[in-house]
Order: sequence, then structure tokens, then C-alpha cells
Amino acid sequence: MATGRTTVTEAAVREALGKVRDEERGGDLVGLGMISGLTLRDGHVLFSIEVDPQRGPALEPLRQAAEKAVAALPGVLSVTAVLTAHRGSGAAAPAAAPAAAPRAAAPGGAQSRKLPVAGVGSIIAVASGKGGVGKSTTAVNLALGLAALGLRVGLLDADIYGPSMPRMTGITGKPSSPDGKSLDPKENYGLKVMSIGFLIDEETPMIWRGPMVQSALSQMLRDVNWGTLDVLVVDMPPGTGDAQLTMAQQVPLAGAVIVSTPQDIALLDARKGLNMFRKVDVPVLGIIENMSYFCCPNCGHRTDIFSHGGARAEAEKLGCDFLGEIPLDIAIRETSDSGHPIVVSAPDSPHAEAYRGIAARVWAKLRSGAGPVAPRIVIE
Ligand code: ADP
Repeated sequence: MATGRTTVTEAAVREALGKVRDEERGGDLVGLGMISGLTLRDGHVLFSIEVDPQRGPALEPLRQAAEKAVAALPGVLSVTAVLTAHRGSGAAAPAAAPAAAPRAAAPGGAQSRKLPVAGVGSIIAVASGKGGVGKSTTAVNLALGLAALGLRVGLLDADIYGPSMPRMTGITGKPSSPDGKSLDPKENYGLKVMSIGFLIDEETPMIWRGPMVQSALSQMLRDVNWGTLDVLVVDMPPGTGDAQLTMAQQVPLAGAVIVSTPQDIALLDARKGLNMFRKVDVPVLGIIENMSYFCCPNCGHRTDIFSHGGARAEAEKLGCDFLGEIPLDIAIRETSDSGHPIVVSAPDSPHAEAYRGIAARVWAKLRSGAGPVAPRIVIE
């Protein structure tokens, strides 16, 4: 097992995976070209196993066998393997825009504003068609899930109408400025965080007019010393109005994740969110169903209050991926509202695991090129 400072190499991981067989296809995972998006960082290993969507759930044992084979290597601290549908099979990210797609469709000179942010790999938006569906809760736990995979992660609270990241990340105080021009992000739980809530009093109602929205976002994105990040998660304002559209145009997004509750009405709103991103050529990485079912805190009994499964069905209908479901559970509310999100306060809970699974799927999609600015990660 791991001794001292042994570091695992990509070659060693490939060799281990080369011994895992897909009996149905009569070969090993490497030989069959099923491994993609292999990422190594400080002993944390992440990869996708590309499979035929028809075989889906039946391949869970294969996924587990692959994780087990890699976990046995010296120097491996964690392994995350995710099953992803074959690209081109029709099930994988049909919403993805080709990397070189012209952006002429984005009005208002958006193309020129879509300059990459120095040092930041992929920027993803977490959005919802309407407020109160748990978008911010999902954004913070998704960011922490990505960090748990060993990635360098930033979180930008662009919800200028109701910034909740100071509360959810447990961060207080104003960010400092080393030079009077740029701001240093605040940090907690290994995340670099910027929120308009650090700069204005949460209780002070702000009226935002169009140009103010643009300049606030641009400053929070570009005048912040993010350093080197693999992913920047942007918590968008809820809804699909002008402000949201402007943001979707301004930020060089690698993709968007839509959070929805299972009620049909919310799903109609989710559809609007999806269309908004498609309009500005941002690939939709998938839909997350939040408050999917109710977990009784006393007996653990599960109740499908909101006709569970709506988002999965809707995602299929809309031709975008379903990234996972999170139950309605008081532990999720209490932890995020008190500044100790469940991914860090109860990392062994099934809910934390669900968020990490979603994070792994999102990262696998970014790595497999679902987004136009998926970066190359430095391999040890
Ligand atoms: P939004 O950003 O969509 O407005 P929030 O993330 O602020 O929504 O969530 C609204 C409220 O619902 C918060 O009090 C939050 O803690 C709670 N909440 C969000 N997701 C869940 C969940 N899965 N289970 C329980 N409470 C949740």
C-alpha cells in the first residue's frame, strides 16, 4: 500500500485498468479504448469509462472493479470512476457546441467579452429557471465535491439579487486588495470565493440596473486574483431574464448545469434556463434534480413528495444529460444555511457522496470536451 511519498503515475493507472476486463465485449478497458479523461492530482485519480448507454446500470460492477484495481496501487488516495455514455451515441451531451462554433448569435459584442480568465481552466454556471429550488446549495456542494476530487476550485457568487455564499461558506469580512485595483478572494474549505455579499451589506436592498450588473460581474470575474484554478463555479441569479442572459454571454462558460425540483412547473422553468444557454452557445452539461424525494429525519423513510423523477424524464426529452438527484433533507438545509455544507461537514453521508458523484460527472464531461474551453490538466 501507499508508503511515504510514493506518487502514482498515469502509466501505472493505465496498466491497472488494462487488467480489468469487460467480459461482454471480450477485452480490457484500456485495449477497448473505454478510458477517457484520466486525471491525476496528488494521489487523487479520476477517469471516465465510456460505455454504450443501453448497458448503463448493468455496468456498475465493472465501474467498481476499475476503481478497486486503481485503489490498490501505491500512492493512490482516492479513485473516482464514472460511467459516461459514448460520445456520438446520441445520449452524450448533444447540447455541446463545437469548440470552434462561431458566436455570432450572441448579440451585444458578447464575443469580445468572452475572453478567457487568466489561470482559470473551465468556468461553469449553476443556474435555475426560478428562485428557491436550491441552486446556491447545489453550487456550493458541487464546488466542494469538485475540490474533493483534488481539483483547484473557485466559487463566484453572481447572484447579485440574493448573494448567499457568505452565509453558505461561513465566510465573513471584506476581501482585501493588495494593490487598490484587484481583490483577493476569500477562502474556506479549500475554495476560493468571491461574492457581492462580501462587498455590500446583505441586509441592504440593492437596485441593479443593466450596466451595473455587467460591471459588477466583470469585476468579480476579472479583477479577482483567482490564481490557478481547474474550475470556477458560478452561482447565477435565478431566472432567465435579461441579467441572466447578459451574464451567460459575458462569461466564457465551458458549460452550464441546471438545477430543478421535480415539479412540472419548475421543469418548465428549467426548460427556459436550458434554452437560454443554448441561445448563447453554452453547452448544457446536464440537469440536477434537487429536493428529489423526502428523507424523514426520524425514521429515514423515503417519500416522493414531488413526483420524483421528473427531471430525469425531462432531461431525456430535452436531449441533455441527467447528472443526479439530491433528496429534500433537513441535514442539507441546516448544514448549508449554517455555513458548513454537507460535503465537508458530513463527507461520509450518502448526500455528500451524491454531490461528489455529480461533481465527478461534471468534471468528466468537461474533460471529455463537452465544453469549448476544457483545459489540459497537468499530469504528474
Ligand atoms: P436558490 O439558490 O435556488 O434560491 P437555495 O440554495 O438558497 O435556493 O435554497 C433555498 C432553501 O432551501 C435554503 O434554505 C436551503 O438550505 C434549502 N435547500 C436547498 N436544497 C435543499 C435540499 N436538498 N434539502 C433541504 N433543504 C434544501
